[in-house]
Amino acid sequence: MKTLRFWILSLICFMMLGIIVSTLTSSYLVTKKSLIENSLEQNSMYSKKLAQMTDEVFLYMQSNLEARKSDVVENLDDHVTVTNILKQLNISSKNFNSLSVINAQGIVIATTPNLGIVGNTVNSAGVKEAIARKEAFISKPYYAQTGRLLILITTPLFGTNGEYFGMLNGTVYLQEDNFIHNILAEHYSKDGSYVYVVDQEGVLIYHPDKTRIGQSVKSNLVVQKLIEAKSGALQLENTLGNNFLAGYTYIEKSSWGVVSQTPFDSALKPLSGIMLTIFLFSLPFILLIFVVAFCVSNKLAAPLQNLAIYTLKDGDRQECNLDIPTWYFEAKQLTETIKNYTKRQEETVDNMKVISVTDPLTGLKNRRYGDSLLEQLVAQKVTFSLIMIDVDHFKQVNDKFGHISGDVVLQFIATSMKDLCVDHEECIRLGGEEFIIILPKKDIKGAYFLGERIRKMVENSVSPIDQTLTISLGVGEYKSNETLTQFLQRIDRALYEAKANGRNNTVISEQ
Ligand code: GH3
Ligand code: MG
Ligand code: MG
Repeated sequence: MKTLRFWILSLICFMMLGIIVSTLTSSYLVTKKSLIENSLEQNSMYSKKLAQMTDEVFLYMQSNLEARKSDVVENLDDHVTVTNILKQLNISSKNFNSLSVINAQGIVIATTPNLGIVGNTVNSAGVKEAIARKEAFISKPYYAQTGRLLILITTPLFGTNGEYFGMLNGTVYLQEDNFIHNILAEHYSKDGSYVYVVDQEGVLIYHPDKTRIGQSVKSNLVVQKLIEAKSGALQLENTLGNNFLAGYTYIEKSSWGVVSQTPFDSALKPLSGIMLTIFLFSLPFILLIFVVAFCVSNKLAAPLQNLAIYTLKDGDRQECNLDIPTWYFEAKQLTETIKNYTKRQEETVDNMKVISVTDPLTGLKNRRYGDSLLEQLVAQKVTFSLIMIDVDHFKQVNDKFGHISGDVVLQFIATSMKDLCVDHEECIRLGGEEFIIILPKKDIKGAYFLGERIRKMVENSVSPIDQTLTISLGVGEYKSNETLTQFLQRIDRALYEAKANGRNNTVISEQ
């Protein structure tokens, strides 16, 4: 059966485990939530910043075009000068992949670098739209006659009287090195985070994987938000089935959207390290609590354990000390109760022991005690002598004075014996009006001497019945060559002889 200490410790361990599990679980959930929120916030801020930068570059590109358009208009007939203006623009801006001037009929007047299309009529979507709108704008991505996917940044060319001459264009080749790559590519990070840009129809304009540029990712949740011209952050599964934490920002100028996203697993990578730190940090406290709990449980269980051990040591009371230190009410009460109970029980046992060897009428030792003492002396080979006493004519006392007076006479005889037995002699009532006195380490002379003193004392005392009482005695010394029964029979014969001699005398039994 398990001990109290075991159960207290088990309870404490169980509680500690519960606390550790709940602490780690709540820490895990809080940290995870915070990591997700942080990553969403970071991606959101990041996409906003990139969108701003992209917007500013667009503005800058447009302002570059605006700054040189009057020069172009003035030299529209001079092919060489216009080409030079375009070259200067290309050098100063650095953001265009190519520049061109196209007239109102869509015929190319000049390009840089030399695309070999001067004099050609261009029917591309961007050029058509520019001729139709006659205003500055950034086109949607479209495939040019050269097969390139590009966007057109265009500004119209008007004469002093407002006549439309055509357009000054800058292009950005989306699938080749361009300014968007320059801004965004460096942000491709090792933890799997990356940035991509979509146009207002959900087509990828920029993606670290160039082969994906031009693909539609309309089904992506973030892209749907951007098509609705919204900015924000959310957790999503991308079109390839991977989980991401994405921040997205809509760019006013171009109606594009910039998305910065981090793989869900990468964002949560620090989680295991943080959990380990929390665990290691709380480990000394856990150990401290455990040590304290161990000591307290020991201290709690100790009094009850000592009590339990005490109650188990049934036959060994003397050696078992009930001086148990108790420091709380229940243990103290239990100890007191057991102490009192044990004391009472010991008293009862002692009492019973006395009663079991005492003659109730005379207070002398009884026959049981006498037999046991004689056996002990024989076994221990101690020399001893014995006096056997029988009251003379006791039957007559009973008959004449009654049984109660007879009892008083027996008490009187016993008192007379006790008064004279002062040297380790044991006075025993065998039964009725027969007594023996055992004299350890005494010889027959000592026995005879004591017997005679008692006999004379009884004879000469005033008895309770006011009549002279006498006793007859047989005495003898135990010899090692006889049995106890033989010895007692021998003394009994001597007593019989004393009776036969006329009573009130002592006969010595010689072997
Ligand atoms: P004798 O001198 O031969 O010994 O004669 P006696 O009368 O003493 O003879 P016996 O031994 O036969 O008588 C003993 C009597 O003691 C018989 C019994 O009634 C009486 N007796 C025995 N036990 C008790 C007792 O406890 N109280 C009283 N009052 N009498 C007892
Ligand atoms: Mg008798
Ligand atoms: Mg008698």
